[in-house]
Amino acid sequence: MCDEHEEERINIYCVSCAMPTCSLCKVFGAHKDCQVAPLNNIFHAQKTELTDCISMLVGNNDRIQGVISQLEESCRTVELYWDSTVALLWLC
Ligand SMILES: [Zn+2]
Ligand SMILES: [Zn+2]
Repeated sequence: MCDEHEEERINIYCVSCAMPTCSLCKVFGAHKDCQVAPLNNIFHAQKTELTDCISMLVGNNDRIQGVISQLEESCRTVELYWDSTVALLWLC
């Protein structure tokens, strides 16, 4: 809710002041002469940015990549071990 207008939901973002505000503030109040954008757009843009950032981090992190390939490697070793154990059992 807006500080000035208790009935009004914060639904726009004031680009000039870099803060969320309500539409009444834009029309009649403190942000009358400011440039505003719908809050949903801002949220969406930030979310997309964050997702990009995370995938970039994961992609570029050699350590994580190393751990992942190590895990894959040990999975394969267990599988190989299991296969040879079964083969031995069959031979006996
Ligand atoms: Zn307001
Ligand atoms: Zn403003």
